[in-house]
Amino acid sequence: MLLLEARQQVSHYGREMLRRGLASGSFGNLSVYVPEAKVMVISPSELEYDQVSPQDVSVVTMDGVVLDGTRKPSGEADLHRVFYQRDPEVGAVVHTHSTYATLMACLGLPLQPIHYLIAYAGAMEVPCIPYYPFGTMELAQAAYQAKGQGRAVLLGGHGLVCTGPDLPFTMDVAQQLEFLAQLCYRAHLAGGGVKLTAQQLESAFEAVKRHHTPTERKS
Ligand SMILES: [Zn+2]
Repeated sequence: MLLLEARQQVSHYGREMLRRGLASGSFGNLSVYVPEAKVMVISPSELEYDQVSPQDVSVVTMDGVVLDGTRKPSGEADLHRVFYQRDPEVGAVVHTHSTYATLMACLGLPLQPIHYLIAYAGAMEVPCIPYYPFGTMELAQAAYQAKGQGRAVLLGGHGLVCTGPDLPFTMDVAQQLEFLAQLCYRAHLAGGGVKLTAQQLESAFEAVKRHHTPTERKS
């Protein structure tokens, strides 16, 4: 099977999304980029994560051509593709409808640095873009532009997108930002929360970097 290892990883981390409470059913999607082949390997559409086996995972070129996979690729394939095409540091993308991140996205509120876990975002804020219809290039382009140098962006009225050098780390980013989103939502109800400064968070940003030494994408 073409790119078996990468497809096994996508199948495994789909189940991880369920186990970590970041997804239910088939909602959300995840992918990895394979630099040697210049393709992405992405979860299939409309198949529950605990049913996905490696042959169901799609292999898609940077032009959007499906090379292999028994199922249709995720309906958000363009969203993933845009990040790989435009940012050579992105090696994995995780998109969730996890409850609190989605709730903040429905409120149109960015995630603020009220807890040191913002360091997983790689920026002092996780921005929130307005609503764009799912599965469209408009959504993909707006998400890419808003993410900037950080690792994550909220999609208004929709969910969360996280990026990183590889899938294990990107899944951690999605999990930690879901927790941060819960804190932000509750702090919002309680009247705010104290925003930490870049100086205060310097060691947290360093710790996240130390915890994960990015593997370089080769092209
Ligand atoms: Zn979605």
